[in-house]
This record gives sequence, structure tokens and C-alpha cells, in this order.
Amino acid sequence: MSERRPHVVIVGGGFGGLAAAKALRTVPVHVTVIDRSNHHLFQPLLYQVATGVLTPGQIGSPIRNILRSQRNTTVILGNVAGLDVQKKCVFVDGSDRSTVPLPYDFLVLATGVNHSYFGHDEFAQYARGLKTLADAVAIRNKILHAFEQAEAEEDPRRHRDLLTFVLVGAGPTGVETAAAIAVLIRDSLKSEFRRIDLASARIVLLDMAPRVLGSFSERLSTAAKRRLELLGIEVRLGHAVEGIDADGVIVAGERIPSRTVIWTAGVAPSAAGKWLGVPTDRTGRVRVHPDLSVPGHPEVFVIGDTASLDQEGGPLPGVAQVAIQQGRYAARLINRRITGRAAPRAFRYLDRGSLAVVGKGFALLQSGKIQIAGFVAWLAWAAVHLQFLAQSSLRVNVFVQWVWTYITGQRGSRLIVNHRGAQPPETGVGG
Ligand SMILES: Cc1cc2nc3c(=O)[nH]c(=O)nc-3n(C[C@H](O)[C@H](O)[C@H](O)COP(=O)(O)OP(=O)(O)OC[C@H]3O[C@@H](n4cnc5c(N)ncnc54)[C@H](O)[C@@H]3O)c2cc1C
Repeated sequence: MSERRPHVVIVGGGFGGLAAAKALRTVPVHVTVIDRSNHHLFQPLLYQVATGVLTPGQIGSPIRNILRSQRNTTVILGNVAGLDVQKKCVFVDGSDRSTVPLPYDFLVLATGVNHSYFGHDEFAQYARGLKTLADAVAIRNKILHAFEQAEAEEDPRRHRDLLTFVLVGAGPTGVETAAAIAVLIRDSLKSEFRRIDLASARIVLLDMAPRVLGSFSERLSTAAKRRLELLGIEVRLGHAVEGIDADGVIVAGERIPSRTVIWTAGVAPSAAGKWLGVPTDRTGRVRVHPDLSVPGHPEVFVIGDTASLDQEGGPLPGVAQVAIQQGRYAARLINRRITGRAAPRAFRYLDRGSLAVVGKGFALLQSGKIQIAGFVAWLAWAAVHLQFLAQSSLRVNVFVQWVWTYITGQRGSRLIVNHRGAQPPETGVGG
């Protein structure tokens, strides 16, 4: 009879969970990866799906397919609804069953974050966030439909609302999406419409912070703002949004009429902290020990965006590299524990730098003392993003698409896809 292998349950097949699963490939354990969606998603390129450069299939891969040659790993499509740390099991909701218990010896929670509307959940129906492929396709539908609606509209006064795109939040997602909409209009749509004046389209980027891309140095942030303005984007900083409704956005007492508002401002961690009943930080992220385990439960690890750990006096950022490095660390620690070896030293994040793209051929690179803005940074951005796509087929595919789009302005997918039948997408959040 074969010896029972320890069971490692990983909740979440995003950057952290997938890195942990891969690092357990040769370890004598049985691994179960549970995710509520069937695909691993490369979120940094979501904005390119939202603006039609890439198709959903170019940035997402089935988790089952990525892990197909990993014999010790099972993948389950299901939503984890809670867990019992005393009985050591998670409860999984499937498509036809709910609260199915799944026992574990080690648990890795890598459940990421959701949108946060900072207490204004009523904004959600008018301003969709960008977090999933469904979000990206809905936003793409909405942007493209606004142009179609304006072209069909005889009254030019209505063009103003239809051709005004407002992004709330000037972090990387807001900046990258705003710039990408500007390039979409300039490079791809300009020759295709007859009745509307595309030069009158307005893109407004809002943030309550005093500068864009606050995690970058002041010099790079200023360069990004200048670039956004060169692309014709109105950048309005220093004021919180007061209201969002079907007619647009209210900021600093002024209404900006718009039919397309995109929320790129805030995130809130998953429910992992509530499930565990352990201390969390102000935002709800689980406070983890330096070995990423949670207080009182050395067999439970929380990693990635939903974990909170300080290094050099400040919290680690919610970025893919933190999640990947933490996933690998948790796997190494589990390996050492079950093979009776000493635990590795406390987790330490190795910051390789940050990148953000601002339209065609322009990016920011900040790594230690190196600070570059422009084309060279854009080449670095492209190389790094290609390298981190989950599968080699996607790397080739995305590279070819980028070259084609760069040269011709033609995009991977500008289809308005309505999954609900023949009606046009909703004028609210988008279908
Ligand atoms: C639009 C956008 C752009 C970004 N750009 C960058 C960038 O340029 N560079 C960078 O470093 N980072 C970027 N990030 C952040 C980066 O994507 C995250 O830091 C990273 O994904 C965190 O990894 P994670 O494993 O913690 O969570 P995720 O990668 O979000 O994975 C969480 C997984 O858990 C699953 N899940 C959640 N709850 C449950 C549940 N209850 N049951 C089952 N499964 C569940 C989800 O389906 C998901 O697959 C961006 C994020 C977004 C949204």
C-alpha cells in the first residue's frame, strides 16, 4: 500500500497560487488547486483586451492546461466559500453542489483582491472596474458601442456625452487604459467613422492624489502626466469623485457628462481574513508572520494581494512579483517541513523594479537608482510582459499581435460581443 502523501490545497490559480503549485511539482505531496474561474489571468494586460488590442484568449490560459504535466496536481473549478481551521478543511461550492468539504494538511490562500468603491457601492452599476476577463470584454463593448451610438446619432449635442470617457483612478491601470483609449482613437478608429468628429472625443483621468502613478518617483510621474497630456488626455488631480450616475461623474462640484466611466481606483482584499478570523490590516489584508503563515496555524499560508507583510518599514505592494515570490517561498517551506529539514529564512521580497506603459512606444522604468521614461523603457516593458505570460504559445501570439498593431494600428478584436442575445450592450455598466 502506498504511503499517504500530505495534501496541499491551494485556493487561487492567480500569480501566487500558480507559482506555489509549480514549485511543488517534484515535492512528495498531493496538490489541489481550486479556482472559481478555469483560467489563470495575466491581469497586467487586461487593459489591452478592454481596448481591443488583444483577445481574451491571448492573456488567459486554462489552469488545467498549464499544470497538465504535473502528475501530483489536481485542478478543481469551484468557489471556496469558507473554511474550518480546526477540522482543517475548506468548503467548496461547485456548479451543482455547495459547501463540499475538502480536507488539507497544508493550505495556501492566494485569493487576490476585488474592486473597492470606498464605501460607494452604488457607483458600481455605472463604473465597472477592470479585474477579470468579463470586466475587460464588458468595457470593450461599452467603449466601442459609444462610438457606434454616436455615429448613428443625428443630434451632435449628444455626441459630447457619448464620446467622453472618464477613468477614476490614476494608478497604473487608469493611466495605461486612458492612454490606450487615446491610441485606439488616433491609430485605429480615425479613418472609419463619417459622421462623428473623433478629434472631439474627450478622455478624462481623475484622481484625488496630487500626482499620477504615485508609486513612481516624482520625476517619472511628471513625465507620465506630460505624456498623457500630449495624447490629449485631461488629467485632473487632487479631488475625490463625489458622485457617479447614468449621466456621468461629479468631481469638485462639476459634472462631467459621460456615458462611459471606468473605475480603476481601489481594491479590497478577498474574504480570507474573515474565513480565518485572524488579525488583518486596515484594508482587510491578512497580517502574516514573516514565514507567511497565519497566527496560531503554521500549516496555513496567505500570499499575494490578500496578505499583508511589512518590509523595511512599509507594507509590500500588491504586485505580481510579490505574489510569485511568496508562492515559491510557501512551497519551499512546505517541502522542507515534510522532509524534516530546517525552515528557510524569513520571506524577503526582491524588488526588481516597476514598469508602466503610457501609450504607444512610451513607458516608465524604475529599478533602484535607474529611472527611465521613453522608448527604451517601453522595450523593457514589452520584454518583461512577454516573459511573464503563462505559456510560450501566448508569448509568440502576443508578440506577433503587438508588432502588427504597432505597424498597422489594426487590433486583435474589436467585436462588440453581447452574450445576452441581439440587444445592444447596456448603456450603464456594459454587457
Ligand atoms: C488591471 C490590473 C493591472 C495590473 N497590472 C500590474 C502590473 O503591471 N504589474 C504588476 O506587478 N501587477 C499588476 N497588477 C497586480 C497583479 O495582477 C496582482 O498583484 C497579482 O495578480 C496578485 O496575485 P494573487 O495571486 O495574489 O492574486 P490573483 O492573481 O488576483 O489571483 C487570485 C485568484 O484567486 C481566485 N479566487 C479568488 N477568490 C476565490 C474563491 N473564493 N474561490 C476560488 N478561487 C478564488 C481568482 O479567481 C484568481 O484566479 C495588476 C492588476 C490589475 C487588476
